Amino acid sequence: MTEALLITPTELRQWHYCPRVVFFERCTPVRRRETILMTHGREKHQVELIKERRRTLSRYELIEGERRYDVRLTSTALGLTGELDLLIVNGQEAYPVEFKHTHRPPDPGHKLQLCAYALLVEAELGLTCPHGYWHSSRTRQTHVIPMETRLRNRTMQTIHEVRAFIQLEQCPPPTPQAVKCLECELRNFCGDTV
Ligand code: SF4
Repeated sequence: MTEALLITPTELRQWHYCPRVVFFERCTPVRRRETILMTHGREKHQVELIKERRRTLSRYELIEGERRYDVRLTSTALGLTGELDLLIVNGQEAYPVEFKHTHRPPDPGHKLQLCAYALLVEAELGLTCPHGYWHSSRTRQTHVIPMETRLRNRTMQTIHEVRAFIQLEQCPPPTPQAVKCLECELRNFCGDTV
């Protein structure tokens, strides 16, 4: 598989938000402009990662574990590539961790993203990921996301779906949730939305 057809975990999350976001990025010269909100979120994300280095593992209810930061993994078998902010390794088990600066709980897109990292860890590092963690730096809540068979299957299915659209260069329909378009920085390029 060529590098261009490798999908990232972030793209799976974006695909769930609206498939066109991935289509624009991959198949057209259109690039998203970073909004003030996005810049703020990115900066908070960096701060959270710096703070994480000083914390214990208590928020994960783990007594021991080795933290590995910025773990870059690629699997041509899975058709995935990505860089994980944090991986906690404890023996033969490992737990991917995602940080988000939001008041909202993790949605299905976030779970796809985290599961894609878990699949990469299992395939490339030979470790088992029974669950991952999703932490909100706004609410200070840490959610445990089990890597159930259903989620794994859905993640694999979405990887295939995204790749098929990229290969065909076929523009997907707009999101049915028109409210998303109101705050989308790509709105000017979507002629058939509200
Ligand atoms: S404007 Fe709406 S349909 Fe277009 S990319 Fe944004 S969210 Fe998707």
